[in-house]
Amino acid sequence: MDGAGLPETKSTCPYCGVGCGVLLRPSGEGGLDVRGDPDHPANFGRLCSKGSALGQTVGLEHRLLAPQIGGVETDWDTALDLVAERFKSAIAQHGPDSVAFYVSGQLLTEDYYVANKLMKGFIGSANIDTNSRLCMASSVAGHKRAFGSDTVPGTYEDLDQADLVVLVGSNLAWCHPVLHQRLLQARKTRGTKIVVVDPRRTASCADADLHLALQPGSDAALFNGLLTQIAARGAVDADYAANLSGLEAAVASATADDLTATGLPHHELRAFFDLWINTPKVVTIYSQGVNQSTTGTDKVNAILNCHLAAGRIGKPGCGPFSVTGQPNAMGGREVGGLANMLACHLDLENADHRAAVRQFWGADTVPSAAGLKAVDMFSAVANGRIKALWIIHTNPAVSMPDADAVRDAIAACPFTVVSDITAQTDTARVADVLLPATAWAEKEGTVTNSDRTISRQRRVLPAPGLARDDWDILAEVGRRMGFDDAFDYANPAEIFREHATLSGIAGQFGRDYDISALADISDAAYAALQPTRWPVTKNRIGGRFFADGRFFHADGKARIIAVTSRPPATSPTPDSPFVLNTGRLRDQWHTMTRTALSPRLSGHLPEPFVDIHPKDAASLGISSSDLVSLRNAHGRAILRARITKDVQQGQFFAPIHWTAETARCARIDALVAPATDPISGQPESKASTVSATRFQAA
Ligand code: SF4
Repeated sequence: MDGAGLPETKSTCPYCGVGCGVLLRPSGEGGLDVRGDPDHPANFGRLCSKGSALGQTVGLEHRLLAPQIGGVETDWDTALDLVAERFKSAIAQHGPDSVAFYVSGQLLTEDYYVANKLMKGFIGSANIDTNSRLCMASSVAGHKRAFGSDTVPGTYEDLDQADLVVLVGSNLAWCHPVLHQRLLQARKTRGTKIVVVDPRRTASCADADLHLALQPGSDAALFNGLLTQIAARGAVDADYAANLSGLEAAVASATADDLTATGLPHHELRAFFDLWINTPKVVTIYSQGVNQSTTGTDKVNAILNCHLAAGRIGKPGCGPFSVTGQPNAMGGREVGGLANMLACHLDLENADHRAAVRQFWGADTVPSAAGLKAVDMFSAVANGRIKALWIIHTNPAVSMPDADAVRDAIAACPFTVVSDITAQTDTARVADVLLPATAWAEKEGTVTNSDRTISRQRRVLPAPGLARDDWDILAEVGRRMGFDDAFDYANPAEIFREHATLSGIAGQFGRDYDISALADISDAAYAALQPTRWPVTKNRIGGRFFADGRFFHADGKARIIAVTSRPPATSPTPDSPFVLNTGRLRDQWHTMTRTALSPRLSGHLPEPFVDIHPKDAASLGISSSDLVSLRNAHGRAILRARITKDVQQGQFFAPIHWTAETARCARIDALVAPATDPISGQPESKASTVSATRFQAA
C-alpha cells in the first residue's frame, strides 16, 4: 500500500543546523515521500541533496531492533536493570565522577533535557558532554566572553538583507546548502558580495567575489588586521562604543599582531578591509574552520570584536553568525547538555543559579565545577577513571581525535552502553550493552536551529522492533536508579513544559534563553507548535539581540577581547611535513550511518580520498588515483589521491565520513591529535601534521 491520500506531516530535517522544514508522507513499504515545507522560515520549501534524499534513508536494514547484552538479544527490563545497576555500583564505589554520558546534537531537546537532568541533578556529576563539543564549543565560549551569554545575535533574514557576507572557515555551499541557496538569492536580487576566507578553494568559492586563501590557523591575525583598520580609518561606531568595554586594549593588541601570518598578499588584504569597512550591512558566517582549533575561542572573539567595534550587530543585515553543524546543537546548549554548562544558559559556577536549578529539580546537589569535556572524557576512560560510560547517538570511535586510542579506551572501559539506531558502528561493536532507539522519523520532540528557531520533529513512522525513544530510555534508567519522581514523564510535551518553566527562572536571572511563555503549552498546542524563534516570553517573541546595545554582562556592556594570533598546536616537521585539513562532503553526513543508505548520495563521491597539490604529488611520486598512506604518531589512513590546486602546497584535505565498516584504514580522525582549545575544549581537527607515501600493497 502506498501513502497516496494520507495527509503530509510537518517535521524537520535531521541533518544540519539550518533546520529546514520538511513535509513527510509515508510512501508504503516503510518509505517516505519528502518535500520542503514552503511555510518553514528556514528554507521556504527549499531542500538540499541530503534533505531531499531523506526518504531513501529510513529503511530498516542495519537497524538495531532489540536490546543486546554482550551481543545477545535480551528484553528491555533485563537491559535497563543492568545499566542502572552498573551505574549505581560505579557511583557507590568510586563516586559520581566515575561515570559519564557522551551524547549528541542528534538528540531532541526533550531527550537532551532528561540526560542533563539525570547526570547533573541526580547522579551529581557534570560529566555529560556531547559531540557538539567538536562542532561549536569555541563559538559558545566566544559568545560568553563577548556578550556575557551564549547568544546568537542574528537571524537568517540578516543573510537576505546583507550587502556583504563573509564566510570564514565555512564551506556553506556543501555544509549548510539551503543557507547558501538563500545567499545566492540575495546575491541575485540585491547584489550581495561574498568573500570566502578559507585555506582551501571550496565549492563556496565558485560564487565568491574574493577568496582569501589564508594560512591555516591565521584567522585571528586577519580579523585583528581588520580591527586595526576599523580603528585607524575612524570606522568605530562612536555611539555603539559606549556599550563596549576593552576596545582600546584590544585595538592596541591587534595592531601589534602580525598580518604576515596570513600569508595573504597586500592587495587582497586591502580589498577585504576596504569592502568590509565600506559596507554598512555585513554578516560574517563562521563555522568549523574557526571553531575546530586550539585557538578557536580567540578566533571567534577576533571576529566578534570587529562587528562590535563597527556597530555591525543587532541591526538588519548585520552581525557575526555561528552556524551549527548538527540539527540540535543549539538545543543541547539550551538544556545545558555540555560539561561546563548548567540548564537554560545558567552557569555552573554561579551558586544562585545552582541553588535555583537544584530546587526546581528537587535534587540533592548540582555540581559546582565543570565536568569532563569530550577529549578529556575519553582520556579519563583510557586511564581508568571512568568506570561506566553511556554513549548516545554518536560514534566517537570514528569521530573523536586520536580515534584509534578512543576506540581502544571504549573497548577497555569496564562498562559501556550505547543507545543508537544501529549496532553497526565502530563504537557499538565494542560496547557491552546496546539499546535500540527510535530514529528521527519515529520520534516526537523539538529541535532548535542556528538562528534560534524551535521546530517540531514529528513521528510519521512506527517505532520498529523494540526501539524506544531516548527520553523514555533515560527516564527508565533514572527511575531504576531510585529517582522515581523526577523522571516520571508521560510524554515529550511534559518534558518540554518543565524545560520551558525552568527557562523562566533563567529569565528571572536576566539570562537570554527564556521560553517561559510556552511553559503551560497544552499537549494539543505542543503537537501543533509552529516554528518559533526564542526568546518566547509574554513581552517578546524572537527577533534579533543587541539592537538596544545591552549585553548580558553585569554592567550591560559587551567585552572586546584582546587576542593574539597563534599558529596551530603542531607544526610541520621533516617527519610529518604536511598539514592535513578535514571536513565534510556535500552528500554525506557524519559517519554515514544514514546517508550511506541512499544510492544517490553515495554516488556523489563514492570513496575516501585525499586532495594533494600537484607540486606535492610530483615530489612524492604520486599520480591521480594512486593510493596514498598518511601517517603520524596517532595513526594511519590509506586514501585515494586527488591531485588538485584546490589545496595549497604543503596542505592536504580529506573527508571525515568513512569508518572501519565502510572503508578499512580510512578513519581520518585516527590522524587528528587530541589537542584542544584551552577555553572551549574544542579539538583542532583542521591542522594535523602527517607524512605521505605512495601505498603499495605487500
Ligand atoms: Fe537538511 Fe541542512 Fe539540507 Fe536543510 S540544508 S535540507 S537542514 S541537510
